[in-house]
Parts: sequence; structure tokens; C-alpha cells
Amino acid sequence: MPLVTLREVLVPAAEQGYAVGAFNANNLEYVQAIVTAATAERAPVIVQASQGAIRHAGLAHITEMVRVAAREVPIPVVLHLDHGRDLELVRQCIEIGFTSVMFDGSDLPLEENIRLTARVVEWARPAGVSVEGELGRVPRVGVTAEEVRALMTDPDEAARFARETGIDALAVAVGSVHQMTQQRAVLDVPRVAAIRRATALPLVLHGSSGVAEDSLREAIRAGICKVNFATSLNVAFRRGLAEAMAEDPAGVDPRPYLARAREEVATAVRERIHLLGCSGRA
Ligand SMILES: [Zn+2]
Repeated sequence: MPLVTLREVLVPAAEQGYAVGAFNANNLEYVQAIVTAATAERAPVIVQASQGAIRHAGLAHITEMVRVAAREVPIPVVLHLDHGRDLELVRQCIEIGFTSVMFDGSDLPLEENIRLTARVVEWARPAGVSVEGELGRVPRVGVTAEEVRALMTDPDEAARFARETGIDALAVAVGSVHQMTQQRAVLDVPRVAAIRRATALPLVLHGSSGVAEDSLREAIRAGICKVNFATSLNVAFRRGLAEAMAEDPAGVDPRPYLARAREEVATAVRERIHLLGCSGRA
């Protein structure tokens, strides 16, 4: 089916208490793995591209790969820009056919974050494109527990941010950390619930690859409706590639290696979809 917006998949998730997986794609094999896995699970899915992935694959290529993959399957697929910081690129994504964009102004002063996020909403709305904003900051691996806590989203500020920007979804900082390869982070679930009450928006969790599974399930019950996975898919892709190459070190045709990497990513995606309670929701 044609691509759908973020809002279209998150509204039912918020009503029914599950979360939709947002999976970062870097090349053709990731796109195929994510869409095939979601189809097998009969789950709505968000395929997202970071600025780095767009530099790697090319904006038009990423867009068309996801569009074609979506057209061939009966589940709703969203094409989303992850961590858009470059306003010009955000605008290009809206023009070329992304159905959702994130503007990440989380490292800007609050007033500036509000002003720029509201501008992105102004561009996106007439094009029928959803917008995710971020308030508070999900740090990268290497920070202390105190630093993580200091960067967490404040519910009152979140209420103002939601009201003054008109966003469709809000990424929150509630204890997760980007690029963690072990599941060690524990989330501040009462804070998730407080932000949800204050904003009435579907909430987004970044840095999920490092979050303990029980903590993730609780956070979903408290209002997390979109969960991003990037690092855990990269780990799966690399492992598949490395294992296939170790088993056939003299091989010349790269396709069996890439196929194995794709299988590993698909397996990881199916596991995450289960964990989010999203199986059978399409
Ligand atoms: Zn993120």
C-alpha cells in the first residue's frame, strides 16, 4: 500500500496501549529485512533514515526503496527522517515524499527549539507530513547516571512545547542512552506517565537498544507509542556478515554474505515487534 503518516500508525497504538517499532535503515538489505519482517508479523512499521544514512545511500534512493517496498505489502509503512538537525534536509525530505520527519532541536535553548520545531510543523502540515520533536536530551553512550538524569524531559516544559509547536509525537529523555550495546538502562516510568498526561501526545523512546525489556514494557503501558531501534540492528547486520564470511572466507560473490546479514536483521526486527506488542496490529 502507499506510505502512511506517523500520526496514522501512532493514534491506534496510543489508544490500544502498544508501540510501533521504528527501525533505522542504511541500505537495500535493511529496508527489505524491516518490511519483510513486519509483513510476517502483520504489524505496522516505521522505516527511518538518519542524516548519516541519507549521506550513505542518497535521499532519492532511500525514498524510492522504501516506497517500492511499501507498495508491495499489505501493512502500513511510514517513511520517517530520524534526528533531522539540518533544516534544509528536513525540507527536502518533506518535498521528496517522506511521510514523517523528526526535527531534533534538543540541544538548543528551549525558545529556539520551540521556534524551529514550529517552523517545521508549518512546512509539514500542508504536505500531510507528521512531525516528531524532541525535548530533553537522550545522550550518547559514555555519560554518567547523574548526567542522564540532568538531561531528562520536564513534564511542564513538555506541555508548553507540545502546545506551542503543534507536533504529532514527542521524543522524550527518560533514562535511555543512544548507542548502548547491552540492555542496562532502566527508564523513569512515572516521568513517562507524567509527560503523557501533560501533553496528551504519543511519546517516542530513543536509545532503546540499551533498555531492559521489562522496563520497556512498563514504559509502553505508561505512554510510549514509538520505539526506535538502530544499534541492535547494526549489531545483527554485522554479526550476520561476519559469520557468513568466516564460514566461506574465499567466497567472491557478496550476495550470500549480504543475504545472511539481512536474515539476521529480519530476525531482530521480528523480536522487537513482539516485544512492543505490535504483532497482528496491521
Ligand atoms: Zn535517537
